[in-house]
Order: sequence, then structure tokens, then C-alpha cells
Amino acid sequence: MKKRVAIIGAGPSGLAQLRAFQSAHAKGEEIPDIVCYEKQNDWGGLWNYTWRTGTDENGEPVHGSMYRYLWSNGPKECLEFADYTFEEHFGKPIASYPPREVLWDYIKGRVEKAGVRSYIRFNCPVRHIKFDDSTKKFSVTVHDHTIDKTETEEFDHVVVASGHFSTPRVPEFEGFSTFGQRILHAHDFRDALEFKGKDILIVGSSYSAEDIGSQCYKYGAKSITSCYRTAPMGYKWPDNWEEKPNLLRVDTDTAYFGDGSSKKIDAIILCTGYLHHFPFMEEDLCLKTDNRLWPLNLYKGVAWEDNPNLFYLGMQDQWYSFNMFDAQAWYVRDIIMQKIALPSSEEREANNKLWENREATLETADEMFTYQGDYIMDLIEATDYPTFDIAGVRRTFLEWKQHKYDNIMSFRDFSYRSLMTGTMSPPHHTPWLTALDDSLEAYLGEK
Ligand SMILES: Cc1cc2nc3c(=O)[nH]c(=O)nc-3n(C[C@H](O)[C@H](O)[C@H](O)COP(=O)(O)OP(=O)(O)OC[C@H]3O[C@@H](n4cnc5c(N)ncnc54)[C@H](O)[C@@H]3O)c2cc1C
Repeated sequence: MKKRVAIIGAGPSGLAQLRAFQSAHAKGEEIPDIVCYEKQNDWGGLWNYTWRTGTDENGEPVHGSMYRYLWSNGPKECLEFADYTFEEHFGKPIASYPPREVLWDYIKGRVEKAGVRSYIRFNCPVRHIKFDDSTKKFSVTVHDHTIDKTETEEFDHVVVASGHFSTPRVPEFEGFSTFGQRILHAHDFRDALEFKGKDILIVGSSYSAEDIGSQCYKYGAKSITSCYRTAPMGYKWPDNWEEKPNLLRVDTDTAYFGDGSSKKIDAIILCTGYLHHFPFMEEDLCLKTDNRLWPLNLYKGVAWEDNPNLFYLGMQDQWYSFNMFDAQAWYVRDIIMQKIALPSSEEREANNKLWENREATLETADEMFTYQGDYIMDLIEATDYPTFDIAGVRRTFLEWKQHKYDNIMSFRDFSYRSLMTGTMSPPHHTPWLTALDDSLEAYLGEK
């Protein structure tokens, strides 16, 4: 009997898994029966923008954390699929930092070409997954909102690709319950124009803090104050943006900081990160980790150590994204299709320890790029995923970092060479700071 595989989520990771199986099928190999359960009504994960916050049309927690006017935060050359290039998709080279809609179009292009949509059951949040030791099967319980029915099916393998930038980590500070205006987490941030003319406080020093602050600057916030716990972001900010240490408390309209200063503010945006959250996983199958390069208990970063019929995709902190998910998906496919044999649990653990120990030595961003690049190569070498110039990606990351330190408001104006095709990307027609229309047509110069 054919094996059955459940994939949870049709974002970039889950779609990479579908594409991996389809590419084996296209080469004449027999693939398992696959069902991909997706809670939203369309594919693309976070790249499928929603205006909603809170709960969705089915009463489920909204997955989306992306906002209007979001552009890629790194060069697209670092995330390009090795089996489907930007040039193939758009029919011409395009600039290096596409807005969300352009990247969503690219993600969709590959899976539309592969014809895998019929594997996906949309509007189907997974409610519960457990494993039966006697039958060696997983029971996957989902609620199908299209017919408003809960059902359970059995599978030999489960691939969890439900993402980890969706459940906000929300700290509380003294005075929040009496602050007079809006407090929101980055997960609920949708439109920088809401903060035009306002003095905003950004809590945090991560990507979200940097990008949401930059968005607010670009769309006319009066001032931006960002505050950090351990270290400032350290970029050269525009004149109306200052970084402060430690938020101590707020009162009805003012924030107080660790250096004794204070600032009158109109809104607070918590850029305080996300939780890896799998409420549908039985306790003994549930990945518990913070956002790091080597989440524990996953052999090769994907196979659950205690039960390697279960996989998690894309759970790492992400310098690399789409092509890392591909490397993982191809590897998982080959374990499931028994082209890659799993070593003993002792060997798996020992291998895991090596990566974990090396992770603990990483200090610089360059060391982290190299680490994640080495991890990807380790996976790719074991499968037929097209190999690509990982050293070139590292160089591109390094240039990108430097451009950000040179000028945080203009790093998106640079262009890079594709590491897949060798083609140099053209410069964008408008500097990022003045390009207010983020539509696909505007970006591609078709408007
Ligand atoms: C604001 C923001 C900006 C970002 N910008 C970039 C960027 O510029 N470049 C970059 O490379 N990366 C960026 N990322 C990182 C992003 O994580 C990846 O690009 C990518 O979306 C991860 O893909 P994924 O499939 O693992 O997860 P997701 O995209 O989160 O997709 C997970 C899917 O699983 C579904 N799902 C969740 N729970 C269930 C359930 N119980 N049942 C069924 N389905 C479920 C969701 O609906 C979703 O479709 C950004 C992330 C955020 C939050």
C-alpha cells in the first residue's frame, strides 16, 4: 500500500515539500499519497497578505504578519529557487528587493507550473496530531470550514510547515493598561499611514523594529523612538529617529527609559518577536524552541529525533529562506521515499550535537551566513536539488549588511547578480524611499 503523507501549511515551506514530491513524480518515480492542509483560503503563507487582524473569517487566529508596502528585507538573489529563477518567472531580469506582492507572484509561479494545487485542502486548520505506537500511524484531525466538519485521517508521515512568525510574543510594561492610545504588536501592524504625523515608540531591536520603523519614517511619522534591551541596532538613523535603552514604564502619553530620559508618544508598536507555537501537536511530538539557527531535537534540522517519521520544515532562524526550505523539503522527501537512510538514534544525536556545538561558537553575522550555508549544502549534496553558489550567497549577504550600515534608508537601491543565472539585476527605477506604490505593476514598471 502507498504511504500517506500529511503536510501542514501551504506557505513557502509546505509548497517546497509539494514541489519536491512533484519533481520526483515528473522523473517517473512513484510518490506517496499527499494531503496538504492549509488553514487560509489561498497559498503562499505569510506572503498571502491579509488586511485582517485578530481572527479570520472562520474565527481562527489570523496567520498573517505582513503589512502593506513591505519589500524584501534582503536581496532576492539570496532566496532564489535553484529550480525556478526570477528570470524564468518574470521573463526578464528584475531589481533586487521586490515588494511582497512580487515575491508572492514568484512563489505562486513555481507551484502553478508544477500543478500541485489539487493536493491542498484550503480552509482546513489542523486541530490535533497524535501518533499511535502500535499502528505506527499519525492521526491528523482537521476542521474543514468549507463544509463545517471535523474529520480525522491517518498518515505514515507528517511534515509540519506551519511557520513561526505568526504567534506574537507580547510582553507587558508598567503603565500599559492606562496608556491613552494604541498599543499593538508587529503581528497586527498593517499600514504605516496610520502613524503619519505621529510620535511612535517601537519596542525591540530586531528585523521588525528596523523595518516597521523604516516604514513609518517613509510614510511620514513625525518621530520614531526605538528601544532595546541588550544592544542598539546601530544603524545611522534619520534625524527624527533615536534609539533608547530599556523601556521602564509608560504613563498616559509618555515613555520612560533606562538612561533617565522620556519621550511623549502617540502609539506603541511591540516588535518583540514571535513564539514557535504548535497548539495542534501532542505533547511528545511538539517542537519547543526559541528562534535560533539550530533548533534542538531535529536531525538535520528537520527530522524529529524521537520519531523520525515526523518532520518540521523552516523552523530555523532565517538568514536563508526559500532555497533553505527547498533543501530541507528535498531531503525530507528522500527520507520518506527511502532514498536516504536514517542512521541510528545515537548517530543522529551525535550529528545534532556537532551542529549545536558549532552554533554556540557563532559570533559574527558572517559566521552565521557561513553556518547556515554549510547546513544547506550538507542537505543539497544528499539529493537531486540543483546545487548553487552558496559562497556567492554569503558574499551577497555581506555586501547587503555593509549597505545597511552605510545607509539604512538606501540599501534597497542596490542590485546584485543572480547566483542561479549569472545575470546582473537592473537597478530599480525609483529609490525605495520615494517609491510609495508597492504594487507588482509599479515595481515592474508596467504602470
Ligand atoms: C513581517 C515579516 C517579513 C518577512 N520578510 C521576509 C523577507 O523579506 N524575506 C524572507 O526571505 N523572509 C521573510 N520573512 C520570513 C518568512 O518566515 C518566510 O519568508 C516564509 O514565509 C516562511 O515560510 P513558511 O512556509 O515556513 O511559513 P509561513 O509563511 O508562515 O506559512 C505557514 C502556513 O501554514 C499555515 N498554517 C499555520 N497553522 C496551521 C494549521 N494549524 N493548520 C493548517 N495550516 C496552518 C498558515 O496559514 C500558512 O499558510 C518575513 C516574515 C515576516 C513575519
